[in-house]
Amino acid sequence: MKTKKQAKLILEGLERQHPDAQCELDFATPFQLLVAVILSAQCTDKRVNEVTPKLFADYSTPEQFAEMPQETLEKYIFSCGFYHNKAAHIISAAKDIVGRFGGKVPSTIDELTTLAGVGRKTANVVYAVAFGGNAIAVDTHVLRLANRIGFVKSDKPVDAENALMKAFDPEDWSAAHHALIFHGRYVCTARAPRCDECMISEYCDMYAEAQKRR
Ligand code: SF4
Repeated sequence: MKTKKQAKLILEGLERQHPDAQCELDFATPFQLLVAVILSAQCTDKRVNEVTPKLFADYSTPEQFAEMPQETLEKYIFSCGFYHNKAAHIISAAKDIVGRFGGKVPSTIDELTTLAGVGRKTANVVYAVAFGGNAIAVDTHVLRLANRIGFVKSDKPVDAENALMKAFDPEDWSAAHHALIFHGRYVCTARAPRCDECMISEYCDMYAEAQKRR
């Protein structure tokens, strides 16, 4: 496990390596971000950004999505994969936002996680990116890196989220989340981590173990 001091140094290294780390999904409103995050599950942000301009040009508000036939939405989002479930989740969330929150996306994690079709990861991203809240959303990259670096030893996202929230100061949570995602996408990839290019290798448990075996 990492100390707070090590976590700070890790974040500094990640920010040096990825000075542009930020949400890569395109959106204009909190609701559009919510839709984009749901679409991004098991799909690249690039693909989502190819799909959403046409979708948001034709349908943009929770009210419009709440009224949308599921088959219509499925045609727009087909190329994002899992389109049937994603369409159902988006329409359920839109109906909930209209029915329970007056058409406005709620701005707390507790409320966001009560929306139909919205899991903790999605709620955390919307809370942090749309509303500027402090949160660490754990996707596949963050979970993998939290284990490789040595913040946690668990395959459960909630364990990684808790360990990372403990290690980093709250005001650094969102920065850490984006920096870890960028590192997972571009350096510490699932199949072939590029440890020789990594600016945090000196703090990484997986790297230390690999050096011992040499
Ligand atoms: S040293 Fe290698 S395994 Fe560790 S974080 Fe960097 S790229 Fe990933």
